[in-house]
Amino acid sequence: ATPTSIIVGTGRAAELGILFRKGDALQQLQQAKVVALDKTGTLTLGRPELEHVTTINGFERADLLRLAAAVEAHSEHPIATAITRAGPAELPPVTQFASLTGLGVQAVADSHDILIGSPRLMLQNGIDLTDLKPEADQFASEGATPLYVAIDGQAAALLAVSDPIKPGTVQALDRLHAMGLTLAMVTGDNARTAQALADTLGIDHVTAEVLPDGKLAAITALRDQFGALAFVGDGINDAPALAAADIGVAIGTGTDVAIETADVVLMSGDLRGVANAVEISRRTMRNIR
Ligand code: ADP
Ligand code: MG
Repeated sequence: ATPTSIIVGTGRAAELGILFRKGDALQQLQQAKVVALDKTGTLTLGRPELEHVTTINGFERADLLRLAAAVEAHSEHPIATAITRAGPAELPPVTQFASLTGLGVQAVADSHDILIGSPRLMLQNGIDLTDLKPEADQFASEGATPLYVAIDGQAAALLAVSDPIKPGTVQALDRLHAMGLTLAMVTGDNARTAQALADTLGIDHVTAEVLPDGKLAAITALRDQFGALAFVGDGINDAPALAAADIGVAIGTGTDVAIETADVVLMSGDLRGVANAVEISRRTMRNIR
């Protein structure tokens, strides 16, 4: 039977926009030792802006943005939206589009082979990044995400996108720390970019450049190291980690798959909801004992 205090705790949480989908989660959350969080859309707004373009090998900025925007118009990734917004209204047709999860995108536009994405994607395709790498590292150490564009097998541009920290994130993490929790970031983004943000936010542990199934492995390792784990995420690629965590917390403004997989949903997406949820869980369980 469900004790009255669980009903009271669940009700109080609901008033704060925190949906406990299972009574179990309210009981388990107070045992959490570590809170692991996805980066894009969870710690940050998930609405990156294209802030910089460097072209090389004779490619022109306007041509490059036209091709890149055309390809990214077929992707739903927040990075893709930022690049498409920066392009012209009239885009060339695109064929053979492929989304390479956690790596980037590939397609043919204007009879050119276009590749856009991470250093790993470029490495896999034998693209020489020597001339662009120093600048990419500089952007990453400032917390922006560097992306490369290759055209017909040749490096063509470096793009930098940056995604602002969500209001409430700083305060939420400070409160979780004050409650004695270890904080971890698990992201598919660049390691330097992730570390820069973690330093800004005081996050204790960073796992970066992980593919979606890598997120699952990362949270399993964190749980072995630190103990009971809550994972907070918003994306399709967060679903396996949300399912495997002791407590999965979804951002209510995130994808349906994440929400359906989670034990707890933060309706507004404000991370202060995580701190509130832990407090309510601790108070509720104290009443039971
Ligand atoms: P996150 O965990 O931050 O949500 P993802 O796994 O979605 O990250 O993406 C990881 C990396 O893959 C991005 O930082 C980027 O380098 C690359 N990437 C993913 N999708 C795209 C895209 N549509 N265009 C360019 N690069 C992309
Ligand atoms: Mg995300």
